Amino acid sequence: SLELKDLSMAYGDFKVVRHMSLAVAPGTTTCIIGPSGSGKSTVLRGINRLHEPASGDVLLDGKSVLTLKPDLLRMRIGMVFQHFNLFPDHTALDNVALAPWKVKGLSKHDARSIARECLAEVGLAERSEHRPHDLSGGQQQRVAIARALAMNPAVMLFDEATSALDPELVNGVLNLMADLCRRGMTMVVVTHEMGFARRVADQVVFMDEGEVVEAGPPAQMFDAPQSPRLQRFLSEVL
Ligand code: ATP
Ligand code: MG
Repeated sequence: SLELKDLSMAYGDFKVVRHMSLAVAPGTTTCIIGPSGSGKSTVLRGINRLHEPASGDVLLDGKSVLTLKPDLLRMRIGMVFQHFNLFPDHTALDNVALAPWKVKGLSKHDARSIARECLAEVGLAERSEHRPHDLSGGQQQRVAIARALAMNPAVMLFDEATSALDPELVNGVLNLMADLCRRGMTMVVVTHEMGFARRVADQVVFMDEGEVVEAGPPAQMFDAPQSPRLQRFLSEVL
């Protein structure tokens, strides 16, 4: 399980996330929605300490992430970004095998066999010897997802994982994410895809100006939003 406890995040004196509390039960998916600049990415960066929290805490299976070494933390929490950040000179297989080999310390052989399984899981078994520029954007994002899965994470974070994709490639990646959810992965997904949030999320969190304005199950959030700010946001994006 993942729990944010009164988490605040700042850049210098500029507070961008204020007193955020959130519980993500094992095997559930939480979607974070909200306008640009509301602090969604910063929350994810706080969860795996790409940016250190200003105050508050993040608990992973009851244990503060602040007590974990960053390398260990990032083995337990996988992250997928809008831009896939693959190594251009490595094949898909080696992109996925690299962290299990270099960070987790598996043998190269074992790392590659895990990488093969993960590429198969995202539907790319046949593309393992391709380099990123020989893959479509959607395939590159699948490689990035396989790379995160290869560390066998307890939680996966997605930050606008489909925003940089051509429209016809978006659904394939969203369906893969929905599959991960069905197979019991614990996920926090920042997304502009309201259809995905409605279909897949167990809970939806609406942020505005660094605060959680409203949270609840998707039916309630989309069909009966309570706060005027969420009502206005939905009227603009739906
Ligand atoms: P978007 O939907 O556009 O991705 P977001 O909800 O993810 O927006 P954040 O990226 O978390 O928003 O940004 C929250 C606030 O923090 C914004 O005002 C942004 O300008 C500011 N911010 C983000 N990154 C930095 C940084 N590295 N240094 C200073 N300020 C930053
Ligand atoms: Mg963002």
